[in-house]
Amino acid sequence: MYIVNISKGVLKMNSISITRAAELKPKPQDESNLGNGMYFTDHMFSMNYHSDKGWYDARIVPYGPISLDPASTCLHYGQLIFEGMKGYRANDGRTLLFRPHNNMQRLNASAARMCIPPVDVDFMVNAIAKLVDIEKEWIPRSEGTSLYIRPFIISTDCYIGVQPSESYLLNVILCPLGHYLAGGLKPVRIFVEDEYVRAVKGGVGYAKCAGNYAASLIAQVKAHKLGCAQVLWLDGVNHKYVDEVGHMNVFFVMDGKVVTPELTGAILPGITRDSVITMLKSWDIPVEERLIDIQEIADAAKSGKLEEIFGCGTAAVISPVGELIWGDVEIKAGDGKTGPISRRIYENLTGIQRGVLPDPFGWSFEVK
Ligand SMILES: *Cc1c(COP(=O)(O)O)cnc(C)c1O
Repeated sequence: MYIVNISKGVLKMNSISITRAAELKPKPQDESNLGNGMYFTDHMFSMNYHSDKGWYDARIVPYGPISLDPASTCLHYGQLIFEGMKGYRANDGRTLLFRPHNNMQRLNASAARMCIPPVDVDFMVNAIAKLVDIEKEWIPRSEGTSLYIRPFIISTDCYIGVQPSESYLLNVILCPLGHYLAGGLKPVRIFVEDEYVRAVKGGVGYAKCAGNYAASLIAQVKAHKLGCAQVLWLDGVNHKYVDEVGHMNVFFVMDGKVVTPELTGAILPGITRDSVITMLKSWDIPVEERLIDIQEIADAAKSGKLEEIFGCGTAAVISPVGELIWGDVEIKAGDGKTGPISRRIYENLTGIQRGVLPDPFGWSFEVK
């Protein structure tokens, strides 16, 4: 039986042991060529869990391979969840994390779905802040760059039977990330996937669990072959309501209104999505969260009312979509250029993240 027990394992910040790397790696010099997360920093955070003890042995150690018994259940049955968040170096030298508590809360939501024990949110935010502080020289400074933070939890019990593991390993690794959208905000072409589905209600679509990404690859490969950058996922039952675009949430600007799919359980509740909705409402721009039939989008485009489409997520922040390819229908958004709402959100959100603009929503967490 799965028993949530964090009380046994409430770790104190001073219980994190730190072992420094004997030698530091050379840091990538060319910030315009950091690629897609290829360079990992010198240290990582780890801690273990056992149902008898809760979380224990929190430590910052040199970055390196983790050794796993080949029978570890994560390798077979995929009890594996992760998060993705970012840190920035502000012009005034502060190190800022964007909404890290929300990421740790979502890690716990994913954990609950996958029978993985939860973490203590404040402890984890502080542990990540400590790791980022140790690695702050790795945070790139040029505009559009960031330090990507990847916490993940894997099950480590060893047996062939299928049941929730009693033991887990949590790691946090870091890597400098280049400008995701090299060349600026350029609208991309997206393939509307009507054969494969990403998730269904009642499944694991709202969890950041590894299997979702393995399952999505085939559609991505297909989209690339068709000259598209990504796929637009439709709902798994009717194959007609819009879910997400690639690994991002999606927004449409139609007829002066902004609409985005409601969180049905098949959709990942993005923190960028929430930030976009909050910012739009603060600008008195109405936002509707509801089911969106792909036919409605095609009709809006036909009558000239589809102004903008954009995806949003931690990695790209905002990714404008120029057109959707839905069977033999081409759905074009606006004039094919990045629209004013996409641009305004991108500039304001990245401004807050980088500490360049005021942070009226209290989203930045300073690493001290
Ligand atoms: C992570 C993710 C998102 C975006 O979430 P953010 O919190 O904004 O980064 C959207 N969809 C999927 C499938 C994701 O994995």
